[in-house]
Amino acid sequence: MVEISAGKKRLLFGDGVNLRCLPAGEKRPEKHQLLLEFDDGSSVAATVQMYGLLYAFRAGANDDNPYYMIAREKPSPLSAEFTEAYFEGLLSGVKPAMSAKGFLATEQRIPGLGNGVLQDILFRAGIHPKNKVGGITSAGLGSLYRSVKETLAEMTLKGGRDTEKDLYGNPGGYGTVLSAKTWKNPCPVCGGVLVRQAYLGGNVYFCPNCQPQK
Ligand SMILES: [Zn+2]
Repeated sequence: MVEISAGKKRLLFGDGVNLRCLPAGEKRPEKHQLLLEFDDGSSVAATVQMYGLLYAFRAGANDDNPYYMIAREKPSPLSAEFTEAYFEGLLSGVKPAMSAKGFLATEQRIPGLGNGVLQDILFRAGIHPKNKVGGITSAGLGSLYRSVKETLAEMTLKGGRDTEKDLYGNPGGYGTVLSAKTWKNPCPVCGGVLVRQAYLGGNVYFCPNCQPQK
């Protein structure tokens, strides 16, 4: 989530909201969910296609919203507080039969970690999205923790994934390994055939060779 302070008011944008900055004089999109117009004639348009999270409220007035409070209170995986011990603590709070995708990308256990960024995290850790967390070895958990930290840091540093666009309409600089853009190519590590499957709300992408199902 991104929160912007505007005096005593807050604007909050979450997953699914497309934001576009438009210079003065540029045509606004006919359909939009929010249009912010500035004194210099420029504007920011927010559009939502399937679903999205978009709030405008007085400071403090959204504190009964669990998604918002989780995003504010839980440590970001980019922060120093998100240690390996913290990660293991999250893991001990779920059933061992829960899948790797279920653990990482559902119920807001890790704020901001959704289906979009999940694919490369699991690929780099060599873990199949459907593998049960209880069956992951301690070495596997260590590499999963490092992959969460490193993959998200790299995506952030490079301005987001190349499957998304920034405020000016330019794609992010992080080249996705596994995404709708790439899954028809051979696996960049083993050359095998990549797989796309619908699983737990959204497609998962994986290499059955580099991420064996157990
Ligand atoms: Zn592979």
